[in-house]
Parts: sequence; C-alpha cells; structure tokens
Amino acid sequence: MPPEMTVQINQRMVAMRGSERTPARCCALVGEVGTQVQCSIYEQRAQVCRDIMYTGYNGLREEKCDKARIAHGMPPLEPDFEPEQTPPLPKIA
Ligand code: SF4
Repeated sequence: MPPEMTVQINQRMVAMRGSERTPARCCALVGEVGTQVQCSIYEQRAQVCRDIMYTGYNGLREEKCDKARIAHGMPPLEPDFEPEQTPPLPKIA
C-alpha cells in the first residue's frame, strides 16, 4: 500500500491514515458513505482489508459488514445481495 497513506501506530505496525481517528475514515475511501463508496487502492489493500468481505459475498453473512452498515444508519445487506457494476473512481486530490 502507498506509504503516504499509512500512519505508524507502534514499532511494528502501521494503519491506514484516518483509521486511527474517531470517527474513523480511511484515507483510501472515496465517495459518500450511504450513497456510494469505493476503495481507491483496492488491488493494493492490506490483508486485514481482504479478510473482511461484504454480506452477500458467496451468499454469506459478514457480521463486521453488518455492524459497519448499522453504525452508519444503514440496514445490513441480505446474504443474496449482489453488487452492481460500479462507475470509475473519481480522482483523488
Ligand atoms: S478496503 Fe480500502 S478503503 Fe477500506 S479500510 Fe481498506 S484500504 Fe481503506
């Protein structure tokens, strides 16, 4: 992942810049939560990001996805959810 997008959180670990704050918002997230968001470094994202899928991936429920949606005032997705094709990413300043 791009080093300028990370922040050192201890001697051995980094986090995505913005995820260490409260409320957290990863600097790689583009778009508006509740409308449409997308990871701007999807192919380079960390393993911790790859380990969490959305509810509906392979027809399964993902508790962390559900909790995140509820925290932002949205209902959880259904396990049969299939994402639509997304438009190209906006440019990052
Ligand atoms: S998937 Fe992308 S936007 Fe989400 S936390 Fe990871 S790097 Fe940030």
